[in-house]
Amino acid sequence: MGKANCPFCNSQNTFNIAYGYLGEKKKKKNYIDQEDIGLNESYRKGFEKYDFDGEKLISHLPNRYCKNCKNTFQSRKVMYTVDISVINLIINIGESYYRYIFDFSDMNDPKYSIKINWIPIKENVSLSIKDRNKILYSFKEYKPNLWHGHYGKSYDYDNYYWILKCTYYNGIDYVKSGNDKIPDNWMNFIKPFKEIFREKIFDLKS
Ligand SMILES: [Zn+2]
Repeated sequence: MGKANCPFCNSQNTFNIAYGYLGEKKKKKNYIDQEDIGLNESYRKGFEKYDFDGEKLISHLPNRYCKNCKNTFQSRKVMYTVDISVINLIINIGESYYRYIFDFSDMNDPKYSIKINWIPIKENVSLSIKDRNKILYSFKEYKPNLWHGHYGKSYDYDNYYWILKCTYYNGIDYVKSGNDKIPDNWMNFIKPFKEIFREKIFDLKS
């Protein structure tokens, strides 16, 4: 298996972090001790994390360290909805191209932008915490991360295509898409988007 690329600088000069309880791994190849990169013992013990809705989560400590830019990151795909940083939702119907961009990188100041046919219609408009939570709830409940990579035909579409890209704070992301076809739970997943933006374009049918 190749080395994990750093999500911050793309370097391959990355190492597994050995925490105290994995001390014996220190001697293993590709491991770096937590103290050597400034993570002290209390960092491991005092780690608590909550989801956007207050649910207590199992913590996931960063497991990789980049020697190039000195950032730590989590390379496993065990991210939570609260970790979502940016969402891109693209829907192309006929001649019209809609792109919704949600920037949740600042938990207390969520924002969104809209482009229609590549022209910015809204730019960095504040979204209420309530509306942000509705969207995150949808990600938590309907789990687009578990959808297939692609629905429908590969290259062609007759009526529409959609693309959903979700990027987590640590640079890990996933992309889902469909041509004239949607996942089974699409109508539930898309509900908050319909409520917030009152747009018919979200009503896609397979
Ligand atoms: Zn790096």
